Amino acid sequence: MGRQERSKSLSFDLLDTGIDDVRWPAFPSPAAANQLAVQFQLEHSQWWSSHDLSSRQLQQLSALIGFAKEHVQHYRESLCISGLAPEQALSWDVFRQLPIVSRAEVQRLGDSLATQQVPANHGKIRIVKSSGSTGRPVSLRKTDVCNFFWKALSLRLHFWHEHDFNGTFAAIRFTDNDKAVPPHGTRMSGWGPGTMDVLRTGPTWLLKSSVDVSAQAEWLGRMQPHYLVTYPSNLLQLARHFVSKQLALPTLRQVCTIGEALPSGIREACRKAWGVELVDTYSSEEAGLIAIQCPDNEHYHVQAEGVLVEVLDENNDRCRAGQVGRVVVTPLHNFATPLIRYEIGDYAEVGEHCSCGRGLPVLNRIVGRARNMARLPNGRLFRPSVGITDFADVAPVQQAQLIQKALDHIEVKLVADVTLNKIQEQRIESIVQRNFDYPVQVTFSYPPTIPTSAQDKFEDFLSELL
Ligand SMILES: [Zn+2]
Repeated sequence: MGRQERSKSLSFDLLDTGIDDVRWPAFPSPAAANQLAVQFQLEHSQWWSSHDLSSRQLQQLSALIGFAKEHVQHYRESLCISGLAPEQALSWDVFRQLPIVSRAEVQRLGDSLATQQVPANHGKIRIVKSSGSTGRPVSLRKTDVCNFFWKALSLRLHFWHEHDFNGTFAAIRFTDNDKAVPPHGTRMSGWGPGTMDVLRTGPTWLLKSSVDVSAQAEWLGRMQPHYLVTYPSNLLQLARHFVSKQLALPTLRQVCTIGEALPSGIREACRKAWGVELVDTYSSEEAGLIAIQCPDNEHYHVQAEGVLVEVLDENNDRCRAGQVGRVVVTPLHNFATPLIRYEIGDYAEVGEHCSCGRGLPVLNRIVGRARNMARLPNGRLFRPSVGITDFADVAPVQQAQLIQKALDHIEVKLVADVTLNKIQEQRIESIVQRNFDYPVQVTFSYPPTIPTSAQDKFEDFLSELL
């Protein structure tokens, strides 16, 4: 669909109108007007050249770094030491010399990375904790401005993927809401932050992701949602359940995934189970919405208006298209805890310029966290893409997880009704060895279940080498 056709599909009749009996054109409330004004800019800036986008990013970085040097203790010390003189204008060469700060350093630095003295119109400050799937969470401060941009980019996601705002969302995710349990889950009016200030939408029904998959499937059958949002690992289990029990979900139009790197095979699993496509997003508490899947392709566009993303190799040089490297982010609008060149702990693969015409940078895939990367004796570092879907032809396995115990040793944890026989184990061993392209030693264990993290996230590969 071309640019003009796409903009015609926006549902202006659902805009909230702030004046009695002024129905058309809508007269937006102040909050909606602000969101729509930024959305108007985002509609344009997505088509800018990478040169124009990066020059605007540099302007915003100058404001952020200038503020951080003045008001944030850590940067007052570290930025001057690293050669950024007090009145020096920021250039990309200067920026790329600034130190990279790791997740462990952010934890260690604590309050010296934060300030209470944000400009008054940045709004209230709140303390948030990152999801902490790696153990100790990162705690940081964010302002209303950060929240505003999170909303704006969420709304862009709905527009990009042409969601019908009259539709119903089903969300199966981590929540401490005690009502989000079968048989009904809990009903929320609207689709959450992206639309709440701007548009009238259908409802969202919420269910805890810790609920058993068969109960999730029954719940979806009752709710008849148009859209489903959940974690990739949970989605895979659901898709398998729908296929094996020959269940249908005829209302479903699209699935959205969040919170975990997307394993291979999952898009195909959605097509097989429900005949629908999947839209993935890459976000974090620290940096907000980092990348959203392109409307026309399966890769991702960096949300360059909200965050600078660098993908760096082991020498801290920028990766070229096709290369996998460490993701280093600089959220452009968080002045309460400025994170300048923050190594978030994920790996991603850089992409080529996108055929859709958007100038926003491309990531081919989000590879996952460092602890989800395998390392081999020959030095190869990669994200294994082998798991339960690959083992399905060998044996009926409910859960599978690979643990790297040593450079040449992989433990395959399987949850299955029966212990596999030697021939089945040998077949799985050869699947793993083929995927690793290396003669790793493979051992098996059969735990009763494989626990998820505190946020109900499941990791199909874990390295113990870190
Ligand atoms: Zn694109």
